[in-house]
Amino acid sequence: MYDYQKVLKERIEESEEFKRKYEKLKGLREKEIKEFGLELVGEPEIGRVTLGTEGVLLFRLLRFGLFKELNFISGSKFANGMVYRGGIDIGRALIETDNSNNLDQFLTSLAELYKESEIGILSVIKKSDEFLVIRMDECISSAGMLNVGRAICYFEAGIIAGALEVFLGSYVDVEEVKCWGKGDEYCEFEINLRHISEEEVTNRRNIRESGEGRVHDRNVRG
Ligand SMILES: [Zn+2]
Repeated sequence: MYDYQKVLKERIEESEEFKRKYEKLKGLREKEIKEFGLELVGEPEIGRVTLGTEGVLLFRLLRFGLFKELNFISGSKFANGMVYRGGIDIGRALIETDNSNNLDQFLTSLAELYKESEIGILSVIKKSDEFLVIRMDECISSAGMLNVGRAICYFEAGIIAGALEVFLGSYVDVEEVKCWGKGDEYCEFEINLRHISEEEVTNRRNIRESGEGRVHDRNVRG
């Protein structure tokens, strides 16, 4: 299992500049977060300790700039939904499965896809025929961001959903339960693997995203 606290400690010990940035990030209060403006971009360097930050800042500016515009036009539920759907398309297109129905093999392929694309470091926390918990360290969207009170990794959740849909041949719902955006130091996704209809998936997302949307609307300037 990837040990963020261990690599973080080593990084802090080797660089005064890094230590200063880390303490600044940890010390920011709610008022300062709002004034900061780029709260969703955060400090990639803090969270991407092993995967690095090349291209990450540009990715986040595009990702969250686009989100803010979509949110301004049609609300956060629509904006999050579009980001999630974009992830689904990528997951469907990029996952490599050998049709063996072997869940372990599929999860290994998924972790390789995330690592090679430098999206994040995946590890399986819980696994049964019906339920999965997947942890993601060093997320390209959120690692090193401030606590904004909500999970934000709809893109990464969508990729997992799209890949799983190819593997399972049915719809799945991926819910992010831990996130840098909620004050955690990694992200975690819960996934129900039993067969559900597209309608049921949509209903669950609507309920969840509308709840988060109310929190989000207060944070976005527009
Ligand atoms: Zn996250």
